[in-house]
Amino acid sequence: MSNATRNLAVAAITAAGLVLTATPAQATHGFTPGAPGAGDPYFPDMGNGGYDVAHYDLALKYDATSRGITAVTKIKARATQHLSRFNLDFLGPLNVDGLTVDGKKAKFTRTGAQELVITPARGLRRNSWFTVTVAYSGVPKRIDDPTLGTSGWVATSDGAVALNQPFGTATWMPVNDTPLDKATYSYTLTTPAGLTSLANGDFAGSYGYKGQTVSRWKMNQPMISSLAMLAIGKFNVTKGRTPAGTPSITAIDTALDTAPAQGTEFFQLTAKVNDWAASLFGKYPFGSTGGIVDDAGVHYALETQGRPVYDRAGRPGVNPSPGLVTHELAHQWYGNSVSPKRWKDIWLNEGFATYSEWLYAERFEGQSAEATFQEVYAQGPDADVWQGVVADPGRDNIYGSLVYDRGAMTLHALRRELGDKVFFKLIRDWAAWNRYGSVDTADFIRHSEKVSGRQLDDLFKKWIFTAGKPAL
Ligand SMILES: [Zn+2]
Repeated sequence: MSNATRNLAVAAITAAGLVLTATPAQATHGFTPGAPGAGDPYFPDMGNGGYDVAHYDLALKYDATSRGITAVTKIKARATQHLSRFNLDFLGPLNVDGLTVDGKKAKFTRTGAQELVITPARGLRRNSWFTVTVAYSGVPKRIDDPTLGTSGWVATSDGAVALNQPFGTATWMPVNDTPLDKATYSYTLTTPAGLTSLANGDFAGSYGYKGQTVSRWKMNQPMISSLAMLAIGKFNVTKGRTPAGTPSITAIDTALDTAPAQGTEFFQLTAKVNDWAASLFGKYPFGSTGGIVDDAGVHYALETQGRPVYDRAGRPGVNPSPGLVTHELAHQWYGNSVSPKRWKDIWLNEGFATYSEWLYAERFEGQSAEATFQEVYAQGPDADVWQGVVADPGRDNIYGSLVYDRGAMTLHALRRELGDKVFFKLIRDWAAWNRYGSVDTADFIRHSEKVSGRQLDDLFKKWIFTAGKPAL
């Protein structure tokens, strides 16, 4: 019960002639703080409890001189309990310049590794909608994790790129940073004229204003927070549609764009892969596709909804390989539309994306998936791919070959077991039935058994629940 409702209740009861004494305990009765984490065993600080975000609206201005940002993030959320206070994830040195809940100033503190703890002026009733507005500024932090590599806000030669899986988003926006809380996003990005800004989703227009360029982007399908991205720099941008009609935007950092045809080639490769993937995996789940080639100087390829980002530092003039483009675009179905509940289930992203590379090679490069499977399988028993358990690889190994290659081998083993017809129906249905949903390994096993009508415990036990090289 909110204070306002309680006061009405007190008034009503008093009017009825009853005596009621309010005490401080009653004022907060039933209202409790939201949890500071979302329960992910690998990343216990990530995410928060007590509310569910529907939409993030980010207005961000980039300053080329300081290389910093001034930003306002508006978060529309619904309380899932009577909330006395709640947390957002917000990392690093950015200063919070102002914070309101439903337009009223709210108290906040910053604690722990990444907690922005917000106490609204009055409790938020369960199921009520509220808006948190956070104004902030500074130079966002780049993360160099010893095992998971670079993420967060990464400066490039002419701007910056935000690399967010698994925990970089909180370096540049306050967020409920958990795969369990999907939301839509809109971005209004302001840069000095001459710089281009790109983000997830559909391009929603740009205009010049007092020596600045403003571009707007809308991610209209719900996505997990680690997919939120933006890139700022000097880009050659190609806009159009794939042959099947999906809107597409590709961009190559001008520092890397040495051949006149390079932009066209990248656009065409992306379009070809996207349409082929849709013919295999089912309807493309998002409003637009494309990709960005940047020059951050760290090696990465990052899937984001509608806008994969590739780093080509040190290889000017060379576009991402078809395999890499295929991997990242396959995530649009497997990882982005259908996403994992917990980071331990990441093989459901990476196994599918890696297997899509094998399928591309089978379709276009004359190498069967069976041949790739045998090549990977030929590795000796000490190879990384056999160390650990695919379905629970450990926090430091979520990007290991165990997850990627053995994950792909698991799918190929399933295909060998069930035959092409059932296997391809199974993976198409997986994408269709779970579109925009959250899944785990148990869901995939249930799905596989349902679609195939087979008992598959032994297969999954062998490939994803047991360490060591399995016998074929
Ligand atoms: Zn991947």
